[in-house]
Amino acid sequence: MERLQKVMAEAGVASRRASEKLIAAGHVAVNGKIVTQQGVKVTKADQVTVDGVPIKHEPLKYYLLNKPRGVISSAHDEKGRRTVVDILKEDGIEERIYPVGRLDYDTTGILLLTNDGDLANKLMHPKFEVQKTYVAKVKGVITNAEMKQLRLGVMVDGRKTKEARVKLLEVADNHQSSRVRLTIHEGRYHQVKRMLKAVNHPVMKLHRETYDSLNLAGLPSGGQWRELRPNEVKKLK
Ligand code: URA
Repeated sequence: MERLQKVMAEAGVASRRASEKLIAAGHVAVNGKIVTQQGVKVTKADQVTVDGVPIKHEPLKYYLLNKPRGVISSAHDEKGRRTVVDILKEDGIEERIYPVGRLDYDTTGILLLTNDGDLANKLMHPKFEVQKTYVAKVKGVITNAEMKQLRLGVMVDGRKTKEARVKLLEVADNHQSSRVRLTIHEGRYHQVKRMLKAVNHPVMKLHRETYDSLNLAGLPSGGQWRELRPNEVKKLK
């Protein structure tokens, strides 16, 4: 016997919290009877429907993608552009997965996709401060003073960014660009691009190397993906 909202979350309907709301709002039925109170337990033999549609008992799946440039970080795109989920679907993955957080259309690198709504919500919550490492190619030469500013925090949308780890990797021979590695614990909208813009070095290219305990070892090219191993999933939880 499992709690109804847990079964719904595991079936990829929504997170546990969102499933509780669906239950309270009268969208969910067990064996044909609408259930609105919380705490109901069900077994695999019970038929659970959401707005009349039976849920599938999908196993929880976790995939790691090296996102290529030019794809959207969502499950669907209104304009019909290719999404990160399309990449896995084209390779035969059928679960209703979605990306955990987003990378911009032109950003490449590590992206986790799952149908585990609870883990996705946890990782995306600011409280958990998931550590992410990016490498950015920026315009111009970043000075030591600017590196210090980036490390201590710069103003983005009227709020200072939290302390970051920063490392200057390279300055182009022609002094037109630099490469910098940044490790941040926040996930604000366009955060890395806006941090670098704040010190007057617009981003030309952005790549994410790590996400929490995960990295891109074994996935050197954009578009490559693999399933997480159980011990890797455990570490994230
Ligand atoms: N910060 C950005 O500006 N863009 C990304 O894609 C990720 C982090």
